[in-house]
Amino acid sequence: MTETTADFHPLSAAAQPIFDTVRSLNPNEPEFHQAVHEVLHSIGPVLERHPKYIENGILERLVEPERQIIFRVPWIDDSGRLRVNRGYRVQYNSALGPYKGGLRFHPSVNISIIKFLGFEQIFKNALTGQGIGGGKGGSNFDPHGKSEAEVMRFCQSFMNELYRHIGEHTDVPAGDIGVGGREIGYMFGMYRKITNRHESGILTGKGIGWGGAQVRTEATGYGAVFFVQSMLAVHGQTLEGKRVAVSGSGNVAIYAIEKAQQLGARAITASDSSGYIVDDAGIDLGLLRQIKEVERGRIVEYANRRPGARFVEGGNVWEVPVDIAVPSATQNELNLDSARMLIANGVRAVAEGANMPSTPEAVGAFQDSDVLFAPGKAANAGGVGTSALEMSQNASRQRWNFDHSEQKLRDIMTDIHDASFRAAERYGTPGDYVAGANIAGFERVADAMLAQGVI
Ligand code: NDP
Repeated sequence: MTETTADFHPLSAAAQPIFDTVRSLNPNEPEFHQAVHEVLHSIGPVLERHPKYIENGILERLVEPERQIIFRVPWIDDSGRLRVNRGYRVQYNSALGPYKGGLRFHPSVNISIIKFLGFEQIFKNALTGQGIGGGKGGSNFDPHGKSEAEVMRFCQSFMNELYRHIGEHTDVPAGDIGVGGREIGYMFGMYRKITNRHESGILTGKGIGWGGAQVRTEATGYGAVFFVQSMLAVHGQTLEGKRVAVSGSGNVAIYAIEKAQQLGARAITASDSSGYIVDDAGIDLGLLRQIKEVERGRIVEYANRRPGARFVEGGNVWEVPVDIAVPSATQNELNLDSARMLIANGVRAVAEGANMPSTPEAVGAFQDSDVLFAPGKAANAGGVGTSALEMSQNASRQRWNFDHSEQKLRDIMTDIHDASFRAAERYGTPGDYVAGANIAGFERVADAMLAQGVI
């Protein structure tokens, strides 16, 4: 990835030296720089109005993780060969509560990716209004093409180190790319064996039968669509009849498609790293789930089995004309050219289901064209918000039903929308959800840090 952020938006005089230090202390970490730059840019007006944040060194402390753990993950493959991967857990900020954030298993994982995700997570978690700090972890392990037994052995080895660093009141990981219910199950099992304790509160995203919460699986995708609903409502519009493009075909994508369809829209695309499918009749969710969740197959299978659908190998899903786009695969998957195509085709709203899927240039293009744009830290916060609900249910030994849990998720998303909207207005950038989300998240965590002293 080329680094473009440094020259994209000017930073305030107070923020620029912080960013320069971040770059010199963390060289070759472009995703991390990109995430920090965006937040420092957004909070410029807050720093100007409230010098206390600068005077008390909040920025210097915020950009430096409280703790970074890197460890060896050895495991034996099915042919008896020893393999070694690298494991990470970055415990970024615990001013608002125990560290909370997912684990990503993907070959691209490195310290830059984990730090960008952990940094974003601080503000996202603050936005949910719940008592959760920010953290992230994962490994460069690639679950694709591995047998069940290999995935299990890897997860067990990963937990064999991670268990020392997590806990209900310390750090509560969850899933992310490559980590779903199956992997959480294997990791939870290993934790229980090592510690001889059935502590539900150490991971979220657990199975419904053994401590998991209703709606957690659906929460991120559903939440992103609820956020679109709120943005459209400000302009007196609804999802009814809208054409929606979703990228990815994993956890976030599948449930974004489901909720968009339940609310009267027509979701017509899905993708994976091999290409995308278009189904003008609307995605057959049962078929997509069968291929992706049950068979763990490739997206081309969908077009092979569904009359009228087509597969575009290696294609760019954003070339499909739609009213709404929900990028739900990975970081920087939607660049300036893609944004221009979406805009030329009349896109009305973009909500990031994934973390940082749009490049800074793409975000700028959407905002310059008055496209409603929801950044990931607001639009995909329903996942972690519902994880916090799972934590409360574990702590109180309660079990909420689906409808109650979905209503809670809806309330969380409405509150995040409104908090971001209001913060943008307060600082003179109405309709700018990027600024609003960063400011609202920053104020909450920075005030907690101020109150808790220099630690
Ligand atoms: P999954 O592993 O379930 O699905 C990921 C999907 O994205 C797959 O279809 C995958 O295709 C595709 N993808 C991943 N990496 C790439 C890549 N480099 N190029 C092209 N396609 C890619 O992950 P999730 O759905 O859980 O996560 C998706 C995004 O949402 C991530 O950015 C994650 O951080 C974010 N997110 C997830 C939350 C959650 O609750 N799960 C919460 C908040 C944010 P393939 O199989 O070919 O790799």
